[in-house]
Amino acid sequence: MDDHFDVVIAGAGPAGAQCARDLASRNYDVVVLETESEEEFPRQSNKSTAGTFPSMMASFGIPDDVVMNYTDWVVLESPNEHYVSEQSGAVLEFADFKRFLVEDGRERGAEYRFDARVSKPVMEDDEIVGVRYAGSEEVYGDIVIDATGPAAPLAKALDVCDLKREKQAIGIEYEFEGIAIDHENYADLTDAMMLRLDHDLAPGGYSWIFHTGEDTAKVGLCYIQNERHREYARDGMSIDDYLHYWLDTDPRFENAERIEGTQDHRGSAHIQLPKSMSTDNFMAIGDTVPTIDPLWGEGINKGMQSARAAAITADHCLTYSDPETSADRLSLYDDLWHEQVAPKMRSRLLMTELLYLASNDRYDTLMRDLTRADLETLSKANQGGKLAITKLLRFRDVPLLSRLARERLRNGSR
Ligand SMILES: Cc1cc2nc3c(=O)[nH]c(=O)nc-3n(C[C@H](O)[C@H](O)[C@H](O)COP(=O)(O)OP(=O)(O)OC[C@H]3O[C@@H](n4cnc5c(N)ncnc54)[C@H](O)[C@@H]3O)c2cc1C
Repeated sequence: MDDHFDVVIAGAGPAGAQCARDLASRNYDVVVLETESEEEFPRQSNKSTAGTFPSMMASFGIPDDVVMNYTDWVVLESPNEHYVSEQSGAVLEFADFKRFLVEDGRERGAEYRFDARVSKPVMEDDEIVGVRYAGSEEVYGDIVIDATGPAAPLAKALDVCDLKREKQAIGIEYEFEGIAIDHENYADLTDAMMLRLDHDLAPGGYSWIFHTGEDTAKVGLCYIQNERHREYARDGMSIDDYLHYWLDTDPRFENAERIEGTQDHRGSAHIQLPKSMSTDNFMAIGDTVPTIDPLWGEGINKGMQSARAAAITADHCLTYSDPETSADRLSLYDDLWHEQVAPKMRSRLLMTELLYLASNDRYDTLMRDLTRADLETLSKANQGGKLAITKLLRFRDVPLLSRLARERLRNGSR
């Protein structure tokens, strides 16, 4: 096998490219296969609003050049209320960010192959030993990593992940100028990332405005096409229609125009508990698992954390004098994922279901409760602390909770 690497990674998204950076820094031979062409990269995969926080920037050494705007506030809106929290963040230019990760990985010694769509695993004795890509090409590795996002051609073929259609969230966003960022009837969104809970605009999901400087912002929305969405949705409206409806009805967009030359950002991610994430010679990272935080869709930091956990695991397996990449050894990755990357995933999924089950009225009350709650309760609730979540529940939520319990029993989920 002449085309052999220590690690083969499919997909140059934040997860795959970060994993390559970490592995190349430890002098492993690593190749990344990316379906898009190098000239256009990233085009279809330029999908993200890319709102992130200092912990991600510092942990992964992300330079200022890829930041469009540093933000100081996170604002939550409901139809008639809002809640403002002081929290620093950064809205990245996602395309520049992706290109930086590739460039930096290359400088550290990683090899990149573009126009290299991965189609299936190459198997030997029921174990993956390489991948088929770009039609009939093959490349081999001691460890293979699927970082292709929701496409997941390898993880699906190996039955490592079970991405469910009814758990797929879809999102769309445009970039605008001429937005009234500090409109008199709304919270001031200057240097803010704003998320809006309002079933009229994003049934069973949420919409957002992320300020990118002066009168410009990224404006988008997302939802899961499940029972909740159908309950609030209007017949025949697509996700694009919902975005246009918001643009037509919210006075902040009265003079807004799409910024010339900018493309739509659109994509999907699954909001569910992963079945598994590794097997012999194989790991799945980022949105392939899925790792994205269910509540607010923070997928970049989480995906990169899962990439680092996979790099640590590969290092652990390959540094032995007699390297071993069995499922048992690689299960360290699963442990790191559950302990460090996405702890309390189950509680956060429950919170997510509860949140999107609630009515617009309840969202208004939630904003008032959030404004009154102490910071410690909020922080613990956000991390999935059950006691803190209970503090934010009200007596009138009992029917909501019983409905959630009934739905969960009916769907056979715990
Ligand atoms: C509209 C929208 C807004 C979002 N906003 C935010 C936000 O504000 N903050 C945040 O943290 N997250 C946000 N996210 C989520 C975030 O973008 C994702 O969680 C993150 O990009 C996942 O990274 P990844 O590397 O796992 O996968 P991806 O970003 O999906 O990257 C996968 C890569 O694999 C490539 N690929 C796909 N199939 C193949 C194949 N068969 N062979 C080879 N290569 C392949 C793709 O071209 C791509 O480069 C948003 C997502 C969407 C859709």
